[in-house]
Amino acid sequence: MTDKTILEVQNFDVDYGYGDAAVRAVSDVSFTLGASKVLGVAGESGSGKSTLVYGLTRLLREPGVIVGGEVKFHLDGEGEFDILSASEEEIRKIRWSHISIVLQSALSALNPLRRIGREFDEVLRVHDANLSKEQRRERSEELLALVGLRPDRLRRFPHELSGGQRQRIMIAMALALRPELVIMDEPTTALDVVTQREIVSELAELRRQLGFAMIFITHDLSLLVELADDIMVMYAGQIVERAPAKELHDAPRHPYTLGLMNSFPPLHGERTELEGIPGSPPDLKALPTGCPFSPRCAFAMDKCRQERPPLVLEVGTEHSVACWLHDSSYQGAVPVELSKRLAKNSGGAQ
Ligand code: SF4
Repeated sequence: MTDKTILEVQNFDVDYGYGDAAVRAVSDVSFTLGASKVLGVAGESGSGKSTLVYGLTRLLREPGVIVGGEVKFHLDGEGEFDILSASEEEIRKIRWSHISIVLQSALSALNPLRRIGREFDEVLRVHDANLSKEQRRERSEELLALVGLRPDRLRRFPHELSGGQRQRIMIAMALALRPELVIMDEPTTALDVVTQREIVSELAELRRQLGFAMIFITHDLSLLVELADDIMVMYAGQIVERAPAKELHDAPRHPYTLGLMNSFPPLHGERTELEGIPGSPPDLKALPTGCPFSPRCAFAMDKCRQERPPLVLEVGTEHSVACWLHDSSYQGAVPVELSKRLAKNSGGAQ
């Protein structure tokens, strides 16, 4: 493990559409990711989390357009790679071999007419013409073993496998060329809860073994608490809270983060009644003035409806939040729902 930075993102903006019709889908996102670290990105549908990673990897399609920012990928021993100014050909070279992506639905990502072995063979052949057919088959079997699948799966068609097996195939393919960064866009969302948990713990183990960095996107914050080093929570295309995973779990500062936590059952511990977040995700074409979460926030004050809160450091040097409740100008008490959670988690582990 090293604390070297692998990815640096500064003031990244993505629009959907052009000119007056454009809506900002990702707004002023900045973060760095350390080599071998896991960054979790959480938020409801439409929060901008998938658009963010499609933009970062230049997989965004019209009408999505990157309108600002810098994205630097640090290649081991090869210096800095400027993702936004690279040509399509340069980008293609680093995809799969240095940065790979696993999408939500393995069924649509795999060609239904091809056996799994052919998919692996093609990825390996395109990126290393020196490998013999036999070497490619051996490597494919090794990759299947990594994700707990038998070698005979190479002879199957996608429809002959379960959802969990197909998703494991996609994970194995993403690891085929030993990338330094793997991006997972809701890879377990379509699966049942037991398979989701199994895949998440297998991923944690693979990361420990192979040492790649990962960005894991999900709307289920409880999954991230197990897997991630840091978690970034997005709402209306912006980061509203960022903190180390345990810190975020034990002491969330943003009411939206608290709402997300209350929307999913915890992985361990006592069962609690799920509350969810009132209202619906925001319409990006008609965001309110001030805090974008204000129409759904139980703690909204006048200031919230007038001024957008900036993302500022709240606790120590690693926990940032965009919420007026944590601004030095706020004179009131921390709302009881947030303080109850703080008190529960600072009361000492049993
Ligand atoms: Fe709620 Fe105001 Fe904080 Fe926004 S700034 S999350 S509306 S308390």
